[in-house]
Amino acid sequence: MLLVRNIRLPLTCSDPGAEAVRRARRMLGLPAGKTAGGGIAKLSVDARHGKPVLVYTVAITLNDEGEESALAGASPCVCFTRKPDFHFPVGQMPLAHRPVVVGLGPAGLFAALLLARHGFCPLVLERGPALEQRVQAVQAFEKGGALNQDANIQFGEGGAGTFSDGKLTTRTGDALCAYVTETFLKHGAPGNIAWRQKPHVGTDLLRGVIAAIRAEIESLGGTVLFNTRLTGIETRGGAVCGVKTTAGEFACEQLILAVGHSARDTFSMLGGMGLPLECKPFSVGFRAEHLQTEIDRSLYHGAAGHPALPRGEYQLSQHVDGGRCVYTFCMCPGGTVCAAASEEGGVVTNGMSLHARNGRNANAAVVVSVDGRDFDNDPAKAVAFQRQLEQAAFRAGGGNYAAPAETVGSFLQGAGRLDLGNVQPTYPRGVVPCDLGSLLPGELSAALRQGLTAFGRKMAAYRAPDAVLTGLETRTSSPLRLVRGTDFQCVALPGLYPCGEGAGYAGGIMTAAVDGLRCAAALMEHNAPPRGL
Ligand SMILES: Cc1cc2nc3c(=O)[nH]c(=O)nc-3n(C[C@H](O)[C@H](O)[C@H](O)COP(=O)(O)OP(=O)(O)OC[C@H]3O[C@@H](n4cnc5c(N)ncnc54)[C@H](O)[C@@H]3O)c2cc1C
Repeated sequence: MLLVRNIRLPLTCSDPGAEAVRRARRMLGLPAGKTAGGGIAKLSVDARHGKPVLVYTVAITLNDEGEESALAGASPCVCFTRKPDFHFPVGQMPLAHRPVVVGLGPAGLFAALLLARHGFCPLVLERGPALEQRVQAVQAFEKGGALNQDANIQFGEGGAGTFSDGKLTTRTGDALCAYVTETFLKHGAPGNIAWRQKPHVGTDLLRGVIAAIRAEIESLGGTVLFNTRLTGIETRGGAVCGVKTTAGEFACEQLILAVGHSARDTFSMLGGMGLPLECKPFSVGFRAEHLQTEIDRSLYHGAAGHPALPRGEYQLSQHVDGGRCVYTFCMCPGGTVCAAASEEGGVVTNGMSLHARNGRNANAAVVVSVDGRDFDNDPAKAVAFQRQLEQAAFRAGGGNYAAPAETVGSFLQGAGRLDLGNVQPTYPRGVVPCDLGSLLPGELSAALRQGLTAFGRKMAAYRAPDAVLTGLETRTSSPLRLVRGTDFQCVALPGLYPCGEGAGYAGGIMTAAVDGLRCAAALMEHNAPPRGL
């Protein structure tokens, strides 16, 4: 793929997207018929010199990929990225039993897919239901029904990824990201994720993609058992020899554990086995909601509202007292705040958006970092802290899964008021006015106030006193790590592959999926598929 950067066009250009592509082709000297595909990879606004200008990066792929590298020198604005070739070596020694993958979030899904594509016919255990039933359970909860502790925003087919915003952005630069993108494309994701710098699928389209990948796993001989929870790991001679589940016991020597960051019962089980769990940093805070038009105005200035511009996205961070960082996270343009609890008696916020990103509000988590020092390096204390915050938010919301909320101006004064202006909160179970600062330890509330004040200096929308904060956001990433070695196996239990976000090795859809591929590749390297499958 060729990337042509810094194509600058005035706001008055009638069809700037098409013009940018035309100019990119001209810069490369491409005759008609040579281009296979591509589109706008990135669009920003340069408003530094008075008159705002649209600045495009255009991606172009050629019918003959081999010709792309020769064009990379056409201009300093042109660069070339090569499509990686993937080869996963498979070992000689056949396994006695099919490998087991626990959890069907992005990590488990991609681990199972790679194993299935190489003839290992994995057995996949997922505590929640298949997609359709899960969507029904989530919708019933949003409409005021009971919380199903195994079918919610965290648990069920697709894991936390299913109701996610579907942003595939990652800064890891791992070549395996291309494998994930290719798989998403093959299974129905929008074509532009191949070239957009900030690819976004949207929760609506992501669901079809997840179901299609599961169908491929099953078509290759994999088995997925829904409503089946891992309850124990059996060992013989210091290595894995089987699993205990709510659907009975299964023998296996190779176990990929991809249970996500909310599987607290599973973490307790692992701790009870004496496996090496350690604290890792995570963050807590709330969701901030603004009018999308205010965000666009802050980012695009005089160009805001121009039809060519995408809905504005931002990321802010500020170092604050106590060596902590306050930052925005998982920003969802045109999205809604969602009810992400998985335990009874707790309130948890998160955010999502549809592919069209056409909601009235923008939301982002505003969170402050915590780490092992806050919990005496005891992972059980870190989980207890998360739970305690979620329960405090539940009580403050009135005990029926409404969420405590406060306007930004009020939070900065510690006033506990929700004087709604233009921003109508979107949290589906309703909001209740609350002094959010009183729900968090004083040091963290003070840090968040300091951070929000600094954000106001960086971005005009953060000075709007009627922006709404809804809380609490506690599941930003896993509070712990299950320690593994360079062979991807748990240092204390051969045959166990701690994987994905829950094990502490990923944060987000793309990195979780890549980690699933890595664990499966490590497993395959030393083993062959069981005989007689
Ligand atoms: C609302 C929301 C929006 C998000 N938006 C984005 C986004 O836009 N971009 C992004 O990159 N990330 C986003 N994320 C985060 C992303 O979804 C996670 O980082 C990712 O899903 C982690 O993948 P995982 O496979 O490691 O774990 P998970 O997706 O959490 O999957 C773990 C799976 O394991 C199952 N499980 C747990 N315990 C057991 C057990 N004992 N037995 C059997 N099964 C078990 C669970 O039911 C679950 O299906 C969002 C998350 C949420 C909740």
